Amino acid sequence: MADAHGEKGEAAPPPARSALVLGGSRGIGAAIVRALCADGVRVRFTWVADGDTAARVAAETGALAVRADSADRAALLAAIQAAGPLDLLVVNAGIFVGGDPAIIPPEAIDRLIDVNIRAPYFAIAEAGKTMRDGGRMIVIGSSNGDRIAVPGAAAYAMSKAAMQGLVRGFARDFGPRGITVNCIQPGPVDTDANPADGPAADGVRRALAIRRYARPQEIADLVRYLASDSAGMVTGALLTIDGGLSI
Ligand code: NDP
Repeated sequence: MADAHGEKGEAAPPPARSALVLGGSRGIGAAIVRALCADGVRVRFTWVADGDTAARVAAETGALAVRADSADRAALLAAIQAAGPLDLLVVNAGIFVGGDPAIIPPEAIDRLIDVNIRAPYFAIAEAGKTMRDGGRMIVIGSSNGDRIAVPGAAAYAMSKAAMQGLVRGFARDFGPRGITVNCIQPGPVDTDANPADGPAADGVRRALAIRRYARPQEIADLVRYLASDSAGMVTGALLTIDGGLSI
């Protein structure tokens, strides 16, 4: 006998989950976009400067690329609203500004704060208005939120430490709806921002227990775990994946 779906005993498959990855065109973000698309998630991602690379990732994965500078609050909120109700938000976009604090231009620090702190806060607050119950919010922080072993990185460390309070607070706000909010804290990951063959890389490797840079895919696999049903009780957590840098 035909059931309510008009098929013999077969329910329609659940609709694909919907994700937005902020900063998804290169590095860790692109690996996250690839992993989620491979898992059948409908993915949108933002980029800001490198449209050619964003278009290549979109063509390769079927994800939708949207230009939105995380430092521009109106553009950021518009991108989130256009995505509609989400099952998954990944806040990956982040920048490093370092050097002698006496000479770093204040405007550069302001932009770091806009991208690394203000954007995660407003993105999560906005996405939370319409996120489906049981959804997932994931922020890419850094093991530098816990430990900074070199000079010249106070602003970056400050911005990543801020993600720790951010996810704990939002975990309380959204927990009653089954929405989890977590922070992944990578150590060195081989990307354009921190290449494994860069001038400081050998020194960085010596500070690790596991003496290599992580692959972006290894961070994406942790996102996959947090996005899975298995991780429904993990919230307000800091998941450090740093090869032992901060131990
Ligand atoms: P990359 O610089 O390699 O890639 C950054 C990505 O984010 C690009 O897709 C870039 O787009 C996008 N992006 C940058 N700024 C903005 C913005 N203002 N608005 C929207 N999109 C933006 O960085 P990584 O992959 O190395 O780093 C990703 C995250 O991981 C960051 O938050 C970083 O702090 C964190 N992290 C990285 C580590 C590492 O060793 N690589 C270690 C620990 C944490 P576009 O190409 O258009 O510029």
